[in-house]
Amino acid sequence: VEEYIRNYEKLTVLGELAAGVAHEIRNPLTSIKGFFKLLTEKDRDQNEIKYQNVIMDELSRIEQIVNEFMALARPQAIHLKECTNVVELLKDTMILLNPEASLRNVAIDLKFDSDAAKIECEKNQMKQVFINVMKNAIEAMPDGGSLKIRGENKDDLFYQLTFEDNGTGIDEKRLEKLGTPFFTTKEKGIGLGLTISNKIITEHNGEFKMESELGKGTKVIIRLKK
Ligand code: ADP
Ligand code: MG
Repeated sequence: VEEYIRNYEKLTVLGELAAGVAHEIRNPLTSIKGFFKLLTEKDRDQNEIKYQNVIMDELSRIEQIVNEFMALARPQAIHLKECTNVVELLKDTMILLNPEASLRNVAIDLKFDSDAAKIECEKNQMKQVFINVMKNAIEAMPDGGSLKIRGENKDDLFYQLTFEDNGTGIDEKRLEKLGTPFFTTKEKGIGLGLTISNKIITEHNGEFKMESELGKGTKVIIRLKK
């Protein structure tokens, strides 16, 4: 246990340091993007436009990595606020994913055992978890499919959400690696989504679990304290 605590403390210091570095990178990055955009607005030949688009894409990618990394390393504690209707929060969040879902022929099906489920949470953090999980599900179904979202009052303690897709699935060896920072199997993935989601749910005193079968699909189970 002592060893664990020592390691954890080391990790905290390292995390704060890294978060600081990430923060310092973000400011110059924002101005580079801004000024570069000004340059690209003039008339250019085809090749130049192509190269500029590559630079812009790569800058956006660095920006995304820095943002996700900062969300992970965020040192301040979470503030659990007044009860929120998690059903409504999930419905609102789903709207953001609708364009991507229909583009990929993914049908999203929502069912809740009641219209209101109150939990204590930090809304934006919880929203981030829902986005990460739904995005992963959609990305796992490149040829379309269905994402079933269910909400149930499991017992007196927990409200349970499940997100079930019939996408590629994950084999056993990979399943063990899920949640490891920067583990990704996607060409343009970053591999921080699950790490962040797991952290947020744990900070909410909830549980985050994944079950999967290669070729069949994946189920994410989130249990939230009522
Ligand atoms: P990223 O999406 O950037 O790759 P994540 O942390 O969100 O990072 O996910 C890590 C990895 O977990 C993914 O690259 C993928 O291999 C696997 N994964 C997550 N969700 C699913 C899912 N619903 N179906 C199949 N694989 C998944
Ligand atoms: Mg992801």
